[in-house]
Amino acid sequence: MKLNIETSRHTELIDITSEVKEEVRISGVQEGVCIISTRHTTAGIIVNENESGLREDILNLLDRLVPPGAGYRHDIIDNNAGSHLKAVLLGSSEALPVIQGQLELGTWQSIFFAEMDGPRHRTVNLTILKIE
Ligand code: ZN
Repeated sequence: MKLNIETSRHTELIDITSEVKEEVRISGVQEGVCIISTRHTTAGIIVNENESGLREDILNLLDRLVPPGAGYRHDIIDNNAGSHLKAVLLGSSEALPVIQGQLELGTWQSIFFAEMDGPRHRTVNLTILKIE
């Protein structure tokens, strides 16, 4: 199944936890694994705390690690090397256990779609595997 996401900024973290939980519920899987993945090369999937200051800290960290206009070769082609490099640091998927029909997340854990080259129309794939 797929989630459709409309991002509204160049970089932002969008909490998709409730949408993923709902798809796990609909699947009826009691014990298994939920893989959250994205096919985009300038976006990522991460798990962390949804606190507004921390969301900003994460984006600021990425800006420090990947400063704009640092002579990236891909910028010659479409001027978004930084977005790809940030996506590399974040990773494009997460796999979470499903236990007793529930996504196994810690109290402070949320799932984020991380936009690094928006605004764009984006999709997230959810693959829910049942373990016998
Ligand atoms: Zn590119």
